[in-house]
Amino acid sequence: MLITVLTQFPEMFENILNSSILEKAMEKGLIEFRVINIRDYTADKHNRTDDTPFGGGAGMVMTPQPAFDALYQNGASGKRTLYMSPRGKMLSLDLAEDLASEDELFILCGHYEGIDQRIIDAFNMEEVSIGDYILTGGELPAMVLIDAVSRLIPGVLSSEESSLDESIYSGLLESDTYTKPRVYEGMEVPDVLFSGNHKLIHLWKFENSLRLTKERRPDLFEAYLQSGKTKDLSKDEKKVLDTVLSSDKNIE
Ligand code: SAM
Repeated sequence: MLITVLTQFPEMFENILNSSILEKAMEKGLIEFRVINIRDYTADKHNRTDDTPFGGGAGMVMTPQPAFDALYQNGASGKRTLYMSPRGKMLSLDLAEDLASEDELFILCGHYEGIDQRIIDAFNMEEVSIGDYILTGGELPAMVLIDAVSRLIPGVLSSEESSLDESIYSGLLESDTYTKPRVYEGMEVPDVLFSGNHKLIHLWKFENSLRLTKERRPDLFEAYLQSGKTKDLSKDEKKVLDTVLSSDKNIE
């Protein structure tokens, strides 16, 4: 997959693209990133890429010329092109999965007040938001999207790194996790995790997961109940679900 990012602040991407899973994915040849500096395409003699908004209002707006030229010259015409924007469709696992199935993506990052609408219209851009809050620029949202999408490309995560238990992926929040030592500052890891009984451990994790989801994300819990996934539960899992549905007690 080739991901081309267009930004006025390319240096912001250096660390994130050259570390951890994304770096490994590049080394394996599964993803390639191009970070394009929009400023390199401006025809303005003062190197400007923004101007004041027509009709008044605060802030500066990205002018069409440098963005159009950067997009044309890097082959964005006819390709799937995203604009990171708080006005956009909310980034979700479904959207990330959809994007991960593409061979090529272009991502434009806005800054200051935003970008001239004609850039969005001409390249048929999909606006994508990472949440109901305003960030200074589209660079962090683009990095969030790239990370979320890259993890879903087959082969990017090793089998130990990828887990179907991951929160949201399974339809539920992931259960609490623990590591060594067994006791820390007097706080003990639940005994069941040392029982060696895989079935019991699985049921404990399932119950923990159900309770967390019910408490913190009632919307997700309701969607899980409606999803039909409950039809595939074993008899023991079904019992656990019934207990969670009928009580508010914490897990022992
Ligand atoms: N004036 C714009 C508006 O009200 O929609 C917000 C501009 S914001 C200060 C600057 C840039 O940051 C945007 O052009 C966008 O690229 C990015 N941005 C800010 N918040 C974002 C969010 N929640 N999701 C995605 N991108 C965001």
